[in-house]
Amino acid sequence: MKNSYLSALYSEEPYVSGEQPAPGVVKLNTNENPYPPAPSVIRALADFDGRALRLYPKQDGGALRETIAELHGVAARNVFVGNGSDEVLALAFRACFGGNDPVLFPDVTYTFFPVWCKFFKILYETVPVNEDFHLACEDFERPNGGIVLCEPNAPTSIAEGEAFVDEILNYNAGRSVVIIDEAYADFSDFSAVSKTAAVPNLLVTRSLSKGYSLAGGRIGYAVGDARLIDALTAAKDSFNSYPVDSVNAALGVAALTDDEYYTFVIDKIRETRGKTAERLREHGFDVPEPSGNFVFAGCGSVERAQAIYAYLVEGGVYVRYFDRPKIDNRLRISIGKPEEMDVFFARLEDYLAL
Ligand SMILES: *Cc1c(COP(=O)(O)O)cnc(C)c1O
Repeated sequence: MKNSYLSALYSEEPYVSGEQPAPGVVKLNTNENPYPPAPSVIRALADFDGRALRLYPKQDGGALRETIAELHGVAARNVFVGNGSDEVLALAFRACFGGNDPVLFPDVTYTFFPVWCKFFKILYETVPVNEDFHLACEDFERPNGGIVLCEPNAPTSIAEGEAFVDEILNYNAGRSVVIIDEAYADFSDFSAVSKTAAVPNLLVTRSLSKGYSLAGGRIGYAVGDARLIDALTAAKDSFNSYPVDSVNAALGVAALTDDEYYTFVIDKIRETRGKTAERLREHGFDVPEPSGNFVFAGCGSVERAQAIYAYLVEGGVYVRYFDRPKIDNRLRISIGKPEEMDVFFARLEDYLAL
């Protein structure tokens, strides 16, 4: 294929998401919220005036942006709205990174990070997680073109917590941009969003996909210093000027203003998470303390993880297996409704009794 136009085609390995199997299976493989969006969201969808679709949506997210700003106690100019936090993160990588020093992120984290670096030709280096999948601050304390953390991390569900984040921010003060991907922060005890007011090189991204049961709505956003937000907007306007469509922008507003429903749902998921982790540990699985809406179960060996995964799928229970170094002996299990977890455990216990 030398000298052929084909050699110029994009051929990097893209991100691979979990399967979307046919309905009827127990789906614990892509960290979706097992509960529906709030009744107020369903109502907003029914009440949406379809005639308004004639117009382009608001370029900056409009009322959705205002609602996000209010929720976090920041100004609208500190908020950037995008089509899912994946788009926000991709634009942030393009807008904030690309210097001569490598961007740093853990070797075990969201597998989209290296994909974006390759796509945008950004130099990066991974920082190894420890044996217990935790990170050491010192490992990030070196010249860098940016730092990306996922907090709580994926697929480990481990949150390093505020002291860790503070140490990273202190070291990197006045240096490069620190991005914290908080896709799962709704399920944890800590968010760095409030730190963005005092830390001009901190950008925090959030998603409505997990905590707000709106994965199909594709709503994500970033909070940060106005200069970072302006840079993101410039990147967006060089590519695709519009963020979320008008329908989903209205649903996002409804979701973000229904505190009561989501507090209930998230408490429920946290409760189920605690029970799931405990029950897995009783069966001998190694489960680090989870802070997301999923647990990361060590199965002892690669063969055993693969065998359990296959046995679960055969029984109509989907979890996530990653054929990757350091984590190929584990399964990531999303937290479903209690009755879904019962089906999962029944099948798992069948396997264990073989
Ligand atoms: C799900 C997820 C996202 C992206 O979510 P969107 O649906 O694009 O908002 C980002 N980061 C991590 C770690 C995720 O798991």
